[in-house]
Amino acid sequence: MVYRTDYHMHSNYSDGRTIPDEYIGPAIVAGLSEIGFSEHLTLFKDLEDWNMNPVNIAPYIDHLQALQKKTSRIKVKIGLEVDFFAGKEKEIREYLDPLPLDYIIGSVHYLGEKTVDFGPEFYEGKSIDKLFEAYFDSVCVAVESRIFDIIGHCDLIRIYGYKPSTNLEPYYRKLARTMKACNVAFELNTNGRNRPLADFYPDRQFLRVFKEENVPVCVNSDAHMPSRVGQYFDEAYELLRYVGFSEMAVFDKRVRTLIPF
Ligand SMILES: [Zn+2]
Ligand SMILES: [Zn+2]
Repeated sequence: MVYRTDYHMHSNYSDGRTIPDEYIGPAIVAGLSEIGFSEHLTLFKDLEDWNMNPVNIAPYIDHLQALQKKTSRIKVKIGLEVDFFAGKEKEIREYLDPLPLDYIIGSVHYLGEKTVDFGPEFYEGKSIDKLFEAYFDSVCVAVESRIFDIIGHCDLIRIYGYKPSTNLEPYYRKLARTMKACNVAFELNTNGRNRPLADFYPDRQFLRVFKEENVPVCVNSDAHMPSRVGQYFDEAYELLRYVGFSEMAVFDKRVRTLIPF
């Protein structure tokens, strides 16, 4: 069987629909060899309803460790999806370092006080060119922090289908080079298919840039409910193969290895 993982999953510890245990069956049916949870954690900001309350970190890890012990047919990995804020690198790193995690996904959701996936109204009256530039800049700074193992949905700014007037290839090129230099993987996130964008992140026309720059990849569903675990993975792997990828990144206790697919 082909080895597949899905490391981007939200249970009801953050904004997912149900307990982690409910995701195991669908992950096995989807043919996955590993499933990993990555609850939203937003440090140094007021708690929002989509975030895990930091007081639940220890119960979350305990829950997943117990789930690991009672699950034999699939590996269960423990991760987080952590918001990146420039200027808070040291504090975020010191918070995360002692935690027994298999990987940390770093994501940029916020530009300023609002999140770019909050609603299309975020974009109204603003320069789309400037928003894209600011978003890519922020993702690059997140990569350079070296806090994270994987960068989540690296062009989430596409979510509502707004298109800038500029050629974006230099943005993707710079991002891919920075990821390679900082030893960070990117994800092919299939959940964009369920959003207004109706396609994967990152933009498929620039996937070859990540391949040319030799950046490690993993395929993730960003599922918020069990029925979406491993969703669109056949197409995602086919796309990666078409672009020239033949290996994917697997994580264990924050050590990355590459496995052929
Ligand atoms: Zn996210
Ligand atoms: Zn997510």
